[in-house]
Amino acid sequence: MAELRAMYLALGIILSDNPADQIEGMIWAVLFIGIGFAVYFLPSIVAWNKGDRWSVVAINFFLGWTLIGWVIALAWGLKQDKSQIIVQTPAPINALPVLCPGCRKYSQGGSNFCSQCGMKWALR
Ligand SMILES: [Zn+2]
Repeated sequence: MAELRAMYLALGIILSDNPADQIEGMIWAVLFIGIGFAVYFLPSIVAWNKGDRWSVVAINFFLGWTLIGWVIALAWGLKQDKSQIIVQTPAPINALPVLCPGCRKYSQGGSNFCSQCGMKWALR
């Protein structure tokens, strides 16, 4: 019933002769329009910090009025942004130089073979 009253009051801008109703109706109308804008541009809002921001905004703006365009824009906006995925390279197994059991020389830590004699070894 609150919604019905709000809609009635929003219409009250036009329908009512009572200035107080007209003011309350205007407030409700502004609220409705504001909430309507927020819901309509929700896909753009969620996509705002993503790389595809302007593509989502374009679909949202031009096709959002079709429900399917709005859903596509929202799905796109919620999609994980690939360019923001942080790829973590594994830390070096051993940063210390490795002593080759074959030639008794040191090689760079973390390597699987001797840089001096080419001997392969298994790292612990
Ligand atoms: Zn070696």
